[in-house]
Amino acid sequence: MPYRAPVTDYQFLLRHVAGFDQIAETETFSEASDDVVDAILTEAGKMCEEVMSPLQRPGDLEPARLENGVVRTSPGYSDGWKAISEGGWIGMSGDPEYGGMGLPMTVTTAVNEMMSAACLSLQLAPLMSQGQIEAMEHHASDAIKELFLPKLMSGEWSGTMNLTEPQAGSDVGALSSKAVDNGDGSYAVTGQKIYISWGDNDFASNVCHLVLARLPDGVPGTKGISLFIVPKHLPDDNGEAGVANSLKVVSLEHKMGLHGSPTCVMQFDGAKGWLVGKEHGGMAAMFTMMNNARLGVGGQGVGVAEGAYQHALAYALERKQGKTPSGTIVDHADVRRMLMSMKADVFASRAILLNCAAAIDMQTATDDAEWAARAAFLTPIAKAFGTETGMRVAETGVQVHGGMGFIEETGAAQFYRDVRVTAIYEGTNGIQAMDLVARKMMDGGEAAAKLLDEIEDHAERARATVPELAGPVWEATETLREATEWLVAQGDLNDRFAGAVPYLQAFARVLGGHYHLVAALADPGGPREKLARFYINALLPEHTGLLAQAQNGSADVYGLTIDELVA
Ligand SMILES: Cc1cc2nc3c(=O)[nH]c(=O)nc-3n(C[C@H](O)[C@H](O)[C@H](O)COP(=O)(O)OP(=O)(O)OC[C@H]3O[C@@H](n4cnc5c(N)ncnc54)[C@H](O)[C@@H]3O)c2cc1C
Repeated sequence: MPYRAPVTDYQFLLRHVAGFDQIAETETFSEASDDVVDAILTEAGKMCEEVMSPLQRPGDLEPARLENGVVRTSPGYSDGWKAISEGGWIGMSGDPEYGGMGLPMTVTTAVNEMMSAACLSLQLAPLMSQGQIEAMEHHASDAIKELFLPKLMSGEWSGTMNLTEPQAGSDVGALSSKAVDNGDGSYAVTGQKIYISWGDNDFASNVCHLVLARLPDGVPGTKGISLFIVPKHLPDDNGEAGVANSLKVVSLEHKMGLHGSPTCVMQFDGAKGWLVGKEHGGMAAMFTMMNNARLGVGGQGVGVAEGAYQHALAYALERKQGKTPSGTIVDHADVRRMLMSMKADVFASRAILLNCAAAIDMQTATDDAEWAARAAFLTPIAKAFGTETGMRVAETGVQVHGGMGFIEETGAAQFYRDVRVTAIYEGTNGIQAMDLVARKMMDGGEAAAKLLDEIEDHAERARATVPELAGPVWEATETLREATEWLVAQGDLNDRFAGAVPYLQAFARVLGGHYHLVAALADPGGPREKLARFYINALLPEHTGLLAQAQNGSADVYGLTIDELVA
């Protein structure tokens, strides 16, 4: 079934659940009126349906390949990139001074999610550019910004992110790439990077790599890392892509999915680059890019979930098995359970994603520390729950198809294979959960408590209209509060880490209940209230088991010795 962009869903969420009015009232985003946002969503949705969605299967069947050191992209991807670039979708939230549209991250997040649903492999390319743009806007010198940003935003050039090395994955501080000062304002970067998404392509005239490397006086660990912009072609006197730099793609990885996205091993041999941010300040600059990318990857998960849901629903509406009122499997209770779970979780994860983006926008517009804390707290949840939803919904989508789900030509399996990596890259979901229970609780749990207060206040007010929905949300929030207090009280971080993943999942479940409740109040007796009823009755109760795991401490997980694990 062709993809249908869920524009009306975004319009509803922005207006009723993500508090977009508040964003549009700020001076920074005063131009993002309802009309403008509606037009943008509609236009982007059309591009996703008509241009990107038809590229999903060709990318899987004819992966990107390496030919004489140059990446040749999947059929149609070049036209897809052109449409994304010409639509202005890369620089949506970019600084207008350099050719961006200056739109709120909330709108960019919605558009990115639609692009992910339509064709995840291709969407990863503009996502990498967007992260690079944001890191440079915040940390690069004016000269670097003027040289690179307009071309990155227009799509003439593309961007990548080079952190990972064979011995430095989650532990980025273990990297060994080196940089030395050339004495002319530039640096020579040497080292090997692995798993670099879109490390090369045949549609942009230059590929700009943001590379983490260590200067000779850089201390070991993350504190000694610096960030460099290293282009494939050195800009000439006119700022155009000139002579080739000393870097190359060594090979492409063979992956379980995401075949249209070339995942490159990159070799830098004294490649010329320029510092972004301060010497040894690379991690701070990279964090800007990573936070952007974490939200973006959460959106990838939600997008794939939407695509997989639409695909499974279309199949269920056609497949005839057994006697049912409609004659198709859509009426079987278990198939309905699957479809309702998929739809309800797409809504919950999308609402979390957009509320996280909205907090980032409010932070940008107001510089308020509370918005910053809210954005920081929601980011790991949006990333991990968005991608878990992508995996769970895509996996359920395979099940809805029965045997045909296991047969590649239906496309149901591709959603699952493609989305699997989203729980791994940009910080594995385990690392996200650890970030939530450690760094994001260094305030003693204050950011969490404020959010829980708001949810309880809302549920308290909602009791007057829908007590049967508001009650369970209030009670779940109270249980989550107790678990949060337990976590904060654990002096040994390992006791928090052992239950970090179930804690994050439970937090997301409760947030999902809250946003469903908000939606139910905006649509009394309508489909959104019915969907909320299903979520709150059937899915929200999962939080109880998850929170029991979250508070179990670390003793049991280390119960078996390594020898006993092996035996
Ligand atoms: C398709 C693809 C595209 C990618 N694109 C890029 C890219 O564009 N740029 C880039 O720089 N990288 C990229 N990556 C790399 C990706 O970010 C890493 O794979 C990821 O960070 C995990 O690192 P790792 O693979 O070394 O796993 P490891 O770090 O070895 O992790 C293995 C397991 O151990 C766990 N673990 C590790 N450390 C800890 C810890 N301290 N506490 C608890 N658990 C821990 C992890 O959660 C995981 O479950 C990509 C990877 C893939 C597969």
